[in-house]
Amino acid sequence: MSKDNPNYHRETRVTTAGRKEEWTGQVVNPPIWRGSTHLYSDVAALEAGKSTNEDGRFFYGRRGSPTQWALCDALTKLEPGAFGTVLYPSGTAALAGALFSVLKAGDVLLMADNIYDPTRGMANGLFKQMGVETRFFNPLDLDDYRSKFCDRTKAVMLENPGSLTMELCDIPTLARLAREKGAVSLIDNTWASSLGFAALEHGCDISIMALTKHVGGHSDVMMGSASAAERYYRRLRRTAQQLGHVVSPDDAALVMRGLPTMALRLERSSQSALQIARWLQDRKEVSHVLCPMLPGTRGHEVWQRDFTGGCGLFSFVLRDADKAARARFVDALDLFGIGYSWGGFESLALPFDPGHIRTASTWPPVQWGTGEHLGIRLSVGLEHAADLIEDLENGFAAMENS
Ligand SMILES: *Cc1c(COP(=O)(O)O)cnc(C)c1O
Repeated sequence: MSKDNPNYHRETRVTTAGRKEEWTGQVVNPPIWRGSTHLYSDVAALEAGKSTNEDGRFFYGRRGSPTQWALCDALTKLEPGAFGTVLYPSGTAALAGALFSVLKAGDVLLMADNIYDPTRGMANGLFKQMGVETRFFNPLDLDDYRSKFCDRTKAVMLENPGSLTMELCDIPTLARLAREKGAVSLIDNTWASSLGFAALEHGCDISIMALTKHVGGHSDVMMGSASAAERYYRRLRRTAQQLGHVVSPDDAALVMRGLPTMALRLERSSQSALQIARWLQDRKEVSHVLCPMLPGTRGHEVWQRDFTGGCGLFSFVLRDADKAARARFVDALDLFGIGYSWGGFESLALPFDPGHIRTASTWPPVQWGTGEHLGIRLSVGLEHAADLIEDLENGFAAMENS
């Protein structure tokens, strides 16, 4: 039986995905094929090379080599319903590249209000300059969403759960409405990855991931991807070629290395995150735990319905703490590093106050940043959960001792 049998679970398929004899030879992982120039045997071969424009054969470095093609192939297998995947130098570049592929001057873009902040910055900066109007909507309010459509709406940008505040929305419904209105739906699928949320099967047209997070998984590489069925894949690829987006084969090999262990890492960090979220729920210093995997949290039913897995990233809200107390909490942590990004093997903590970012919604119903309510986001890694809980316990103790 072929190891590439589509009946196998995706966890099984990613262990050998991208392995093709002509790319890999007899070794387990695709070699790193560095190269800008690809040499042709003669002029006739050079001419023949121009007539097709497919990946999977040598042409020129910007079209990639077997190292990048193997990763694309593996990510396409990870996303049910995808025809192909395009790689980008970062998750942010993937978001920009995908939006560029579907928008032009005069179009209206609808964007979920709980989107990753740099995506909002892109809409308010680059895309505005380009003549694209962005309207933000509350992803938890269907009437608000519906009312934002007009006959110039060409695309809808979603994310689930929302960055920082972690509320889950009903993607199948939002995506179906977009399709009915003739708009393309794009989703930032970084949190659950294609493994935890099959975005295309749930009605989205383009599934985007910051591979920097879970797929890379080791905090040592930046990359992004966009996967789609054939029609949108063609547009993504053409746009990426025109923008000159290319990733190095060395980076592609690093991301590829993270892929076979991703399911295991996500399973472990989700379990620990859930355990820590439950523990935080009982702390008097905490007013809200924002974690869709936690029963009783907003969107938990949707999570159970639509997702096959979660991850270690969630947030909580401190009550009656000023910023100095929050800083004492975070500074006292030993195992949780202080820093951006997430999805690596080591745990991270990040103070946040999203009040000024949101313009169309509020969730949870708190006054952000007032001292009454301050946010902390945790990215739970692979350390033992009991050690992480002890670390947080020390953080709470430091908060009391001013
Ligand atoms: C980090 C992140 C990105 C951007 O990825 P980079 O590789 O850092 O550019 C996009 N979306 C979400 C939800 C993220 O957390």
